[in-house]
Amino acid sequence: MVRDRFAPSPTGNVHVGSLRTALYNYLYAKKMGGEFLLRLEDTDQTRLEHGAVENLLDALNMTGVIPDEGLIKEKGNVIQKGQHGPYIQSQRLDIYKKYIDQLLEQGQAYYCFCTKDRLEEVRNAQKEKNETPKYDGKCRALTKEEIAANIEAGLPYTVRLKLPENHVITFDDLVRGVIEMNTNDLDDQVLLKADGFPTYHLAVVVDDHLMGITHVIRGEEWLPSTPKHAYLYECFGWEMPHFVHLPNILNDDRKKLSKRQGDVSVGDFLAKGYLPEALINFLALLGWSPENEQEIFSMEELIQAFDLSRINKSGAVFDRAKLNWMNAHY
Ligand code: GLU
Repeated sequence: MVRDRFAPSPTGNVHVGSLRTALYNYLYAKKMGGEFLLRLEDTDQTRLEHGAVENLLDALNMTGVIPDEGLIKEKGNVIQKGQHGPYIQSQRLDIYKKYIDQLLEQGQAYYCFCTKDRLEEVRNAQKEKNETPKYDGKCRALTKEEIAANIEAGLPYTVRLKLPENHVITFDDLVRGVIEMNTNDLDDQVLLKADGFPTYHLAVVVDDHLMGITHVIRGEEWLPSTPKHAYLYECFGWEMPHFVHLPNILNDDRKKLSKRQGDVSVGDFLAKGYLPEALINFLALLGWSPENEQEIFSMEELIQAFDLSRINKSGAVFDRAKLNWMNAHY
Protein backbone atom coordinates (compact mmCIF):
# COMPACT_ATOMS: atom_id res chain seq x y z
CA MET A 1 0.00 0.00 0.00
CA VAL A 2 1.20 3.50 -0.82
CA ARG A 3 2.15 5.50 2.25
CA ASP A 4 3.53 8.99 1.87
CA ARG A 5 4.03 11.90 4.18
CA PHE A 6 4.31 15.61 4.74
CA ALA A 7 7.20 16.30 7.13
CA PRO A 8 7.47 20.01 7.81
CA SER A 9 9.64 21.75 10.35
CA PRO A 10 7.45 23.97 12.53
CA THR A 11 9.34 27.19 11.91
CA GLY A 12 6.61 29.74 11.23
CA ASN A 13 3.73 30.43 8.90
CA VAL A 14 3.00 27.76 6.31
CA HIS A 15 4.48 28.71 2.96
CA VAL A 16 2.42 28.01 -0.17
CA GLY A 17 5.27 25.75 -1.35
CA SER A 18 4.85 23.60 1.75
CA LEU A 19 1.13 23.35 1.19
CA ARG A 20 1.78 22.26 -2.40
CA THR A 21 4.12 19.50 -1.12
CA ALA A 22 1.48 18.38 1.37
CA LEU A 23 -1.19 18.49 -1.33
CA TYR A 24 0.75 16.35 -3.85
CA ASN A 25 1.39 13.75 -1.15
CA TYR A 26 -2.29 13.84 -0.18
CA LEU A 27 -3.50 13.54 -3.78
CA TYR A 28 -1.17 10.66 -4.55
CA ALA A 29 -2.08 8.71 -1.41
CA LYS A 30 -5.81 9.19 -2.02
CA LYS A 31 -5.54 8.32 -5.69
CA MET A 32 -3.74 5.07 -4.84
CA GLY A 33 -6.04 4.16 -1.95
CA GLY A 34 -3.07 4.67 0.36
CA GLU A 35 -2.32 6.66 3.49
CA PHE A 36 -0.99 10.15 4.02
CA LEU A 37 0.97 10.95 7.22
CA LEU A 38 1.99 14.13 8.95
CA ARG A 39 5.26 14.10 10.88
CA LEU A 40 6.76 17.07 12.62
CA GLU A 41 10.49 17.51 12.04
CA ASP A 42 11.59 19.63 14.97
CA THR A 43 15.16 18.44 15.49
CA ASP A 44 16.57 21.91 14.92
CA GLN A 45 15.52 23.34 18.25
CA THR A 46 16.95 26.78 17.44
CA ARG A 47 14.42 27.33 14.65
CA LEU A 48 11.19 26.45 16.43
CA GLU A 49 8.47 29.07 16.64
CA HIS A 50 5.67 29.27 19.11
CA GLY A 51 2.27 28.57 17.56
CA ALA A 52 3.74 27.08 14.37
CA VAL A 53 2.21 23.63 14.92
CA GLU A 54 -1.31 25.00 15.40
CA ASN A 55 -0.82 27.26 12.41
CA LEU A 56 0.19 24.28 10.31
CA LEU A 57 -2.69 22.06 11.37
CA ASP A 58 -5.17 24.89 10.85
CA ALA A 59 -3.87 25.52 7.33
CA LEU A 60 -4.26 21.82 6.49
CA ASN A 61 -7.75 21.65 8.02
CA MET A 62 -8.92 24.76 6.21
CA THR A 63 -7.70 23.54 2.84
CA GLY A 64 -8.91 19.96 3.30
CA VAL A 65 -5.48 18.30 3.16
CA ILE A 66 -6.18 16.06 6.13
CA PRO A 67 -3.68 13.39 7.22
CA ASP A 68 -4.76 9.82 7.93
CA GLU A 69 -1.99 9.36 10.49
CA GLY A 70 0.22 11.55 12.59
CA LEU A 71 -0.61 14.95 13.98
CA ILE A 72 -4.18 16.02 13.48
CA LYS A 73 -6.27 18.77 15.01
CA GLU A 74 -9.68 17.51 15.97
CA LYS A 75 -12.28 19.51 17.91
CA GLY A 76 -9.64 22.10 18.75
CA ASN A 77 -7.14 19.58 20.18
CA VAL A 78 -3.89 18.40 18.64
CA ILE A 79 -3.82 14.61 18.70
CA GLN A 80 -1.61 11.87 17.24
CA LYS A 81 -3.34 9.19 15.24
CA GLY A 82 -1.72 5.96 14.05
CA GLN A 83 0.43 3.04 15.13
CA HIS A 84 3.87 4.27 14.14
CA GLY A 85 4.28 7.33 16.32
CA PRO A 86 5.13 9.44 18.16
CA TYR A 87 5.03 11.65 15.07
CA ILE A 88 7.03 14.48 16.60
CA GLN A 89 10.75 13.91 16.12
CA SER A 90 11.76 15.53 19.42
CA GLN A 91 9.77 12.73 21.13
CA ARG A 92 11.71 10.02 19.28
CA LEU A 93 15.26 10.69 20.47
CA ASP A 94 15.76 7.19 21.96
CA ILE A 95 14.86 5.64 18.62
CA TYR A 96 17.46 7.71 16.73
CA LYS A 97 20.07 6.99 19.39
CA LYS A 98 19.62 3.26 18.87
CA TYR A 99 20.24 3.54 15.11
CA ILE A 100 23.22 5.85 15.56
CA ASP A 101 24.71 3.28 17.94
CA GLN A 102 24.13 0.62 15.31
CA LEU A 103 26.11 2.63 12.74
CA LEU A 104 28.92 3.19 15.27
CA GLU A 105 29.06 -0.54 15.97
CA GLN A 106 29.09 -1.34 12.25
CA GLY A 107 32.02 1.07 11.78
CA GLN A 108 29.90 3.25 9.50
CA ALA A 109 29.89 6.27 11.80
CA TYR A 110 32.41 7.86 14.17
CA TYR A 111 32.65 10.28 17.08
CA CYS A 112 33.92 13.74 16.20
CA PHE A 113 35.30 16.04 18.90
CA CYS A 114 36.34 18.91 16.61
CA THR A 115 35.35 22.32 17.93
CA LYS A 116 33.39 24.87 15.91
CA ASP A 117 36.55 26.99 15.70
CA ARG A 118 38.59 24.17 14.24
CA LEU A 119 35.89 23.30 11.72
CA GLU A 120 35.75 26.91 10.64
CA GLU A 121 39.53 27.09 10.23
CA VAL A 122 39.45 23.98 8.05
CA ARG A 123 36.61 25.40 5.95
CA ASN A 124 38.33 28.76 5.50
CA ALA A 125 41.61 27.14 4.46
CA GLN A 126 39.74 25.03 1.90
CA LYS A 127 37.87 28.05 0.56
CA GLU A 128 41.14 29.92 0.11
CA LYS A 129 42.38 27.06 -2.03
CA ASN A 130 39.08 27.14 -3.97
CA GLU A 131 38.19 23.68 -2.69
CA THR A 132 34.65 22.69 -1.77
CA PRO A 133 34.42 22.90 2.04
CA LYS A 134 34.38 19.43 3.53
CA TYR A 135 35.26 17.89 6.90
CA ASP A 136 38.90 16.77 6.75
CA GLY A 137 38.30 13.52 8.61
CA LYS A 138 40.60 14.26 11.57
CA CYS A 139 38.51 12.25 14.06
CA ARG A 140 38.19 9.23 11.80
CA ALA A 141 41.55 8.09 13.12
CA LEU A 142 40.80 8.28 16.87
CA THR A 143 41.45 5.11 18.82
CA LYS A 144 38.87 3.53 21.13
CA GLU A 145 40.94 4.68 24.11
CA GLU A 146 41.09 8.28 22.88
CA ILE A 147 37.35 8.33 22.29
CA ALA A 148 36.65 6.91 25.77
CA ALA A 149 39.01 9.44 27.37
CA ASN A 150 37.39 12.37 25.54
CA ILE A 151 33.90 11.26 26.53
CA GLU A 152 35.08 10.69 30.11
CA ALA A 153 36.52 14.22 30.14
CA GLY A 154 33.10 15.55 29.12
CA LEU A 155 34.16 16.91 25.72
CA PRO A 156 31.19 17.72 23.51
CA TYR A 157 30.93 15.52 20.45
CA THR A 158 28.96 14.85 17.33
CA VAL A 159 28.63 11.57 15.43
CA ARG A 160 29.45 11.60 11.74
CA LEU A 161 28.71 9.24 8.88
CA LYS A 162 31.88 7.48 7.69
CA LEU A 163 31.57 7.53 3.94
CA PRO A 164 33.58 4.92 2.03
CA GLU A 165 35.90 6.22 -0.66
CA ASN A 166 34.89 6.16 -4.29
CA HIS A 167 31.57 4.41 -3.75
CA VAL A 168 28.74 5.07 -6.18
CA ILE A 169 25.35 5.77 -4.64
CA THR A 170 22.29 5.36 -6.85
CA PHE A 171 18.66 6.19 -6.35
CA ASP A 172 15.64 6.49 -8.55
CA ASP A 173 13.63 9.69 -8.80
CA LEU A 174 10.29 8.84 -10.41
CA VAL A 175 10.25 12.17 -12.27
CA ARG A 176 13.96 12.75 -12.94
CA GLY A 177 15.16 9.20 -13.48
CA VAL A 178 18.15 7.41 -11.97
CA ILE A 179 20.58 9.70 -10.15
CA GLU A 180 24.13 8.68 -9.28
CA MET A 181 26.67 10.27 -6.98
CA ASN A 182 30.16 9.33 -5.89
CA THR A 183 30.88 9.42 -2.15
CA ASN A 184 34.10 11.35 -2.92
CA ASP A 185 31.85 14.33 -3.66
CA LEU A 186 30.05 14.12 -0.32
CA ASP A 187 30.91 15.16 3.20
CA ASP A 188 30.98 12.97 6.32
CA GLN A 189 27.55 14.18 7.35
CA VAL A 190 26.86 14.89 11.03
CA LEU A 191 24.17 12.45 12.22
CA LEU A 192 24.05 13.32 15.91
CA LYS A 193 24.50 16.91 17.02
CA ALA A 194 26.30 18.04 20.17
CA ASP A 195 22.91 18.89 21.76
CA GLY A 196 21.92 15.20 21.57
CA PHE A 197 19.44 15.72 18.73
CA PRO A 198 19.84 13.85 15.47
CA THR A 199 20.23 15.83 12.27
CA TYR A 200 17.44 15.90 9.72
CA HIS A 201 19.35 13.40 7.53
CA LEU A 202 19.44 10.61 10.10
CA ALA A 203 15.96 11.24 11.48
CA VAL A 204 14.26 11.40 8.09
CA VAL A 205 15.66 8.03 6.99
CA VAL A 206 14.90 6.25 10.27
CA ASP A 207 11.38 7.65 10.39
CA ASP A 208 10.50 7.05 6.77
CA HIS A 209 11.60 3.45 7.22
CA LEU A 210 9.85 2.84 10.55
CA MET A 211 6.67 4.55 9.37
CA GLY A 212 6.52 2.39 6.27
CA ILE A 213 6.81 5.26 3.80
CA THR A 214 6.79 4.02 0.21
CA HIS A 215 7.02 7.41 -1.56
CA VAL A 216 8.99 10.47 -0.50
CA ILE A 217 7.57 13.45 -2.38
CA ARG A 218 9.36 16.67 -1.42
CA GLY A 219 10.79 19.91 -2.77
CA GLU A 220 13.81 19.87 -5.06
CA GLU A 221 15.88 21.73 -2.49
CA TRP A 222 16.26 18.30 -0.86
CA LEU A 223 17.67 16.64 -3.96
CA PRO A 224 21.33 17.19 -2.94
CA SER A 225 20.54 15.47 0.40
CA THR A 226 19.02 12.35 -1.12
CA PRO A 227 22.36 10.59 -1.93
CA LYS A 228 23.22 10.81 1.79
CA HIS A 229 19.86 9.29 2.59
CA ALA A 230 20.30 6.59 -0.03
CA TYR A 231 23.65 5.68 1.55
CA LEU A 232 22.03 5.44 4.98
CA TYR A 233 19.42 3.04 3.58
CA GLU A 234 22.34 0.99 2.30
CA CYS A 235 24.07 0.97 5.70
CA PHE A 236 20.93 -0.22 7.45
CA GLY A 237 20.09 -2.71 4.71
CA TRP A 238 16.63 -1.17 4.27
CA GLU A 239 14.64 -0.96 1.09
CA MET A 240 14.60 2.58 -0.24
CA PRO A 241 11.32 4.39 -0.84
CA HIS A 242 10.60 5.92 -4.24
CA PHE A 243 11.65 9.55 -4.48
CA VAL A 244 9.99 12.45 -6.25
CA HIS A 245 11.51 15.94 -6.09
CA LEU A 246 9.08 18.73 -6.91
CA PRO A 247 10.15 21.72 -9.00
CA ASN A 248 10.79 25.02 -7.23
CA ILE A 249 8.11 27.69 -7.13
CA LEU A 250 9.43 30.88 -8.74
CA ASN A 251 8.66 34.57 -8.94
CA ASP A 252 8.07 36.22 -12.31
CA ASP A 253 11.82 36.91 -12.47
CA ARG A 254 12.38 33.12 -12.16
CA LYS A 255 14.08 33.47 -8.79
CA LYS A 256 12.78 31.41 -5.88
CA LEU A 257 9.41 32.70 -4.61
CA SER A 258 10.01 35.19 -1.84
CA LYS A 259 8.03 37.52 0.38
CA ARG A 260 9.33 40.60 -1.40
CA GLN A 261 6.96 40.02 -4.33
CA GLY A 262 3.85 39.62 -2.17
CA ASP A 263 2.18 37.12 0.13
CA VAL A 264 3.67 33.67 0.36
CA SER A 265 2.00 32.23 3.43
CA VAL A 266 -1.21 30.23 3.29
CA GLY A 267 -2.63 32.15 6.26
CA ASP A 268 -2.16 35.49 4.47
CA PHE A 269 -4.04 34.32 1.38
CA LEU A 270 -6.91 32.90 3.42
CA ALA A 271 -7.08 36.01 5.63
CA LYS A 272 -7.44 38.11 2.47
CA GLY A 273 -10.49 36.13 1.46
CA TYR A 274 -8.99 33.74 -1.09
CA LEU A 275 -11.09 30.59 -1.17
CA PRO A 276 -9.27 27.50 0.11
CA GLU A 277 -10.59 25.56 -2.93
CA ALA A 278 -9.14 28.14 -5.31
CA LEU A 279 -5.77 28.10 -3.57
CA ILE A 280 -5.68 24.29 -3.69
CA ASN A 281 -6.69 24.27 -7.36
CA PHE A 282 -4.00 26.83 -8.17
CA LEU A 283 -1.26 24.99 -6.23
CA ALA A 284 -2.20 21.64 -7.77
CA LEU A 285 -1.51 23.07 -11.23
CA LEU A 286 1.75 24.64 -10.11
CA GLY A 287 4.26 21.99 -11.14
CA TRP A 288 1.80 19.35 -12.34
CA SER A 289 -0.33 19.35 -15.47
CA PRO A 290 -3.44 17.32 -16.13
CA GLU A 291 -3.89 15.30 -19.31
CA ASN A 292 -6.54 17.64 -20.69
CA GLU A 293 -7.12 21.41 -20.72
CA GLN A 294 -9.32 21.44 -17.61
CA GLU A 295 -8.44 24.33 -15.30
CA ILE A 296 -11.00 24.28 -12.53
CA PHE A 297 -10.93 21.19 -10.32
CA SER A 298 -12.59 20.12 -7.11
CA MET A 299 -10.44 18.14 -4.67
CA GLU A 300 -12.20 14.94 -5.76
CA GLU A 301 -11.42 15.67 -9.41
CA LEU A 302 -7.81 16.41 -8.54
CA ILE A 303 -7.51 13.06 -6.79
CA GLN A 304 -8.88 11.27 -9.87
CA ALA A 305 -6.63 13.15 -12.31
CA PHE A 306 -3.40 13.23 -10.29
CA ASP A 307 -0.46 11.30 -11.69
CA LEU A 308 3.18 11.46 -10.62
CA SER A 309 4.38 11.09 -14.19
CA ARG A 310 2.89 14.48 -15.06
CA ILE A 311 4.91 16.41 -12.50
CA ASN A 312 7.14 18.93 -14.26
CA LYS A 313 10.91 18.95 -13.94
CA SER A 314 11.42 22.68 -14.34
CA GLY A 315 10.43 25.49 -11.98
CA ALA A 316 6.83 26.70 -11.79
CA VAL A 317 6.08 30.44 -11.84
CA PHE A 318 3.70 31.64 -9.15
CA ASP A 319 1.32 33.60 -11.37
CA ARG A 320 -0.73 35.80 -9.05
CA ALA A 321 -3.06 36.92 -11.86
CA LYS A 322 -3.94 33.28 -12.48
CA LEU A 323 -4.69 32.73 -8.82
CA ASN A 324 -7.01 35.75 -8.86
CA TRP A 325 -8.72 34.40 -11.95
CA MET A 326 -9.26 31.02 -10.27
CA ASN A 327 -10.52 32.64 -7.14
CA ALA A 328 -13.11 34.53 -9.20
CA HIS A 329 -14.26 31.31 -10.87
CA TYR A 330 -15.28 29.51 -7.72
N1 GLU B 1 11.68 18.81 7.38
C1 GLU B 1 11.91 19.01 5.99
C2 GLU B 1 11.28 20.34 5.60
O1 GLU B 1 11.11 21.15 6.44
C3 GLU B 1 11.30 17.87 5.22
C4 GLU B 1 12.01 17.44 4.00
C5 GLU B 1 11.49 16.08 3.58
O2 GLU B 1 10.31 16.00 3.22
O3 GLU B 1 12.23 15.12 3.65
O4 GLU B 1 10.92 20.63 4.48
